[in-house]
Amino acid sequence: MSTTADPWIFQDPLQNAENEFFWKSAQEKKLTLKHCLDCETPHHYPRSYCPHCGSDKTEWRISKGHGEIYSFTRMVRGVEKPFMMAYVQLDEGVQLLTHLHTSNWDAVRIGMRVRVDFLASASGQNVPIFVPE
Ligand SMILES: [Zn+2]
Repeated sequence: MSTTADPWIFQDPLQNAENEFFWKSAQEKKLTLKHCLDCETPHHYPRSYCPHCGSDKTEWRISKGHGEIYSFTRMVRGVEKPFMMAYVQLDEGVQLLTHLHTSNWDAVRIGMRVRVDFLASASGQNVPIFVPE
């Protein structure tokens, strides 16, 4: 997978014990979500305890990486290089804040279908971003 947008160099993401597997999976170009085995609900960002029911019985599952734009913004003032950010509602029901890469900003709409892609950070860590389907 690749994007048509100009390359963007991300700062290296902050990693900790709760998101270590998320970043390890991203390195393999897999988007993963925590899933609660008690209430059968996924969540993001990764936590040891389910934010819905408090259970510690959670496991990692691979997301299909498809969803739709819930909200978005264009960052153009005070930045060296304009970029877009979006809340994406994944088909699994989880929202995540992400970079949105597209060569056609005018076509972006709430509800637009998008899919995950990955771009490397400054040190080579793959970071999930989203692009139009
Ligand atoms: Zn739960």
